[in-house]
Amino acid sequence: QKRNPNEPEFQQAVLEVLESFEPVVEARPELEKNGIIDRIVEPERMVMFRVPWVDDEGKVQVNRGFRVQFNSAIGPYKGGLRFHPSVNASVIKFLGFEQCFKNSLTGLPMGGGKGGSDFDPKGKSDAEVMRFCQSFITELSKHIGQFTDVPAGDIGVGGREIGFMYGQYKRLRNEFTGVLTGKGLSYGGSLARTEATGYGLCYYMKEMLAYKGTSFEGKTVAISGSGNVAIYACQKATELGAKVVTVSDSNGFIYDPNGINLDVVKDIKEVKRGRIKEYADRVPGSTYTEGQRPWSVKCDVALPCATQNEISGDDAKALIANGCKFVAEGANMPSTPEAVEAFLANGIFFGPAKAANAGGVATSGLEMSQNSLRLSWTFEEVDQRLHDIMVNIFKTCIQSAEKYGHKDNLVMGANIGGFEKIADAMLAQGVC
Ligand code: NDP
Repeated sequence: QKRNPNEPEFQQAVLEVLESFEPVVEARPELEKNGIIDRIVEPERMVMFRVPWVDDEGKVQVNRGFRVQFNSAIGPYKGGLRFHPSVNASVIKFLGFEQCFKNSLTGLPMGGGKGGSDFDPKGKSDAEVMRFCQSFITELSKHIGQFTDVPAGDIGVGGREIGFMYGQYKRLRNEFTGVLTGKGLSYGGSLARTEATGYGLCYYMKEMLAYKGTSFEGKTVAISGSGNVAIYACQKATELGAKVVTVSDSNGFIYDPNGINLDVVKDIKEVKRGRIKEYADRVPGSTYTEGQRPWSVKCDVALPCATQNEISGDDAKALIANGCKFVAEGANMPSTPEAVEAFLANGIFFGPAKAANAGGVATSGLEMSQNSLRLSWTFEEVDQRLHDIMVNIFKTCIQSAEKYGHKDNLVMGANIGGFEKIADAMLAQGVC
């Protein structure tokens, strides 16, 4: 804490994760002796830079750019770029630290990193976004590369921004390499990346259910959000035999006892860019509740797929009281600490984001593989690999939790499983 004053997000993330490592450090004194914990919480490198750009009025604007290269023990740094006014060094370090363990869990050779800027793309013209992206990547290009650090998108960075940055990188370096992921299909992107996080979440939940001797078949599922993760989680859960009864946005939620009609959701959100309340006007029998989240409904499985801190302690208690037995996080950090505590104390089988939503970054890893091979796999091939990765992540979580005396605690299992692989690689590579 003394070393990182004014970095509350980073301090919180480190303290939470380090708690899970305690049983491992106790059982393996060589980790302490070799300074693994002291080294793992210290980023290998962090760059901060000026991003000057010219707005449509001809005025010069200045933003701040960041990239933390946290840990490269098991592969090149990998992690998204976030463009949002809330971005600062603490947020980027917190995200980069967490990313190391998520990437490790996928079993793919990816180290951890994260970056971004306090630039706000909202309300900017395409030309302004392009000029910003070109300036940002002009500096960042000195620090990244297909064998060094491969950034991706995150909040505020989608296909448009990745395209602008990729074009400028190619121009600066005169090379066509897989330096960024989340690219368009016409220039090296991967099929199934759009579906990956939602599908992966359901593959992970499928394993959770199977471990407890059951399946999605006939289950009632509550999903929050109606964005990318929620839509594809809804599709896959329905395909696997469940009935999804809710979706939501930041204004309210839809309850449809007959099962959500995904065509209507996609039309509202992807085509018309409208609000989810329109669903109730279009689908008879469904209801819309303004200003509330969907955690008050009766369900067997909950998949929060909207945003951080969207399940409070009271929401968790409502879910438990309504018969929910399984929860897996599609969004990043949707459950508050009080909610996680309530789930674990009441025997809810709980899959944390680090494991359950790793399908997105795993498929970015598969995009890197395809770029290196100069090949594009079919949708089915990528989907099959994603499925196998999620099955393995679940196995790693279960085995790691059991090995250190926390049977069936997937939070401990995910942290420990991600950590041990990195720690072993760091031990093997000496003091560096
Ligand atoms: P989208 O922007 O596509 O969708 C977000 C959804 O959440 C929208 O329906 C949005 O509603 C809703 N939402 C946003 N803020 C709130 C709020 N304060 N209260 C209630 N609902 C809200 O994002 P994604 O689906 O891509 O991402 C969702 C979550 O999953 C995020 O936490 C993200 O970090 C995480 N994630 C995403 C991955 C991916 O591959 N996309 C990978 C790993 C994690 P509205 O339209 O009203 O804003």
